[in-house]
Amino acid sequence: MIKDTGKSKQTGEVWVFIQRYEKELEEASLEVLGKARQLAEKLQVAVAGIIVGEHSEGLAQHIIEYGAHRVYVLNSVYLRGYTSSAYTKALCSLIEDKKPSIMLMAATPQGRDLAPRIASKLRVGLTADCTDLRIGSYTDPKTGKKHNNILLQIRPAWGGNVIATIVNPQTRPQMATIREGMMKLPARNRAARGEVVHIQSDIERADIITTILQQQHVARTVNLKQAPIIVAGGAGLGTKENFQLVRELARLFGAEVGATRAAVDAGFSGHEHQIGQTGITVRPKLYIACGISGAVQHLAGMEESGRIVAINTDPEAPIFSIAHYGIVGDVREVIPKLIRNYRILSH
Ligand SMILES: Cc1cc2nc3c(=O)[nH]c(=O)nc-3n(C[C@H](O)[C@H](O)[C@H](O)COP(=O)(O)OP(=O)(O)OC[C@H]3O[C@@H](n4cnc5c(N)ncnc54)[C@H](O)[C@@H]3O)c2cc1C
Repeated sequence: MIKDTGKSKQTGEVWVFIQRYEKELEEASLEVLGKARQLAEKLQVAVAGIIVGEHSEGLAQHIIEYGAHRVYVLNSVYLRGYTSSAYTKALCSLIEDKKPSIMLMAATPQGRDLAPRIASKLRVGLTADCTDLRIGSYTDPKTGKKHNNILLQIRPAWGGNVIATIVNPQTRPQMATIREGMMKLPARNRAARGEVVHIQSDIERADIITTILQQQHVARTVNLKQAPIIVAGGAGLGTKENFQLVRELARLFGAEVGATRAAVDAGFSGHEHQIGQTGITVRPKLYIACGISGAVQHLAGMEESGRIVAINTDPEAPIFSIAHYGIVGDVREVIPKLIRNYRILSH
């Protein structure tokens, strides 16, 4: 364990802000850490996790086991609960002191709140909601100047119709938030060892402009990210009552229920079930798409599924271009047949 001397060092490191809820780490941050490690290896620099708050010793080791060479633990009585202003100030001070080259966060509600505040305070570029990150070069078309080893920030743009690569070659750190589920959770290496640097943050009472009266943690009831099988329904189900067929098939297969945005907007299912660009990204072993057209915004969240089965009345529906198995038919007839036959076969 190291106590920081407060002397400024330009680290050029790749940083990941690791979110926590009390003594638990947010899995989405660990997914980002796996990607950060790859980027750091390419740049031949260290990857560091930044964690805020007390009782972080065990958590710091946990972060090292998921790929960090170093963990900065920021401490202060004023950082006990998340508040935008205090966390922004504490992290900006740390960044200005250590000068990482890249700063990443998971695009969770907290990451989406914190990252733009830091970027705006430091006057650096930020790309929100990236789906991939790489290290590469970029030549400025105006000046002809080539920038090597910069962060290529990749995300869908224009309503998902193009995949944009965004760079911010002028300022540091290069900042990005990454959509949940886009990066694979790295394997945990319990033998990994790293450095833990404790830093007493200089924030003061005056930096806290909000008071947390109460915190409520609502556990997720839908676990789409971990589900090996997902049965998803779209607008093609037609009514809320028909959407029950999707739930019934899912129950039979021990699967989670997914939905398109059109199905959610129509009130067939809750938003927590939405898969796609503005929902959850999933990679189950089996994805059964029922009455789903296959819009790019939906495909963005499920096209990496192991096996895709699509049921649709329209043989030209785009979902068939990525499906491994296609059934051209009415979901109101096909799903009951699947249920019946599965029951017969499993008896
Ligand atoms: C910025 C932005 C973000 C978005 N984010 C998301 C997102 O995260 N997730 C998402 O899903 N969408 C998202 N969308 C919406 C997306 O563009 C599509 O509108 C949506 O995915 C369509 O859903 P759907 O396939 O259920 O409906 P539709 O496109 O209406 O398709 C219904 C399909 O059902 C078929 N069908 C009809 N009746 C039957 C039947 N009886 N049996 C079998 N098949 C039948 C039809 O042939 C059709 O192919 C987003 C859009 C924008 C602009």
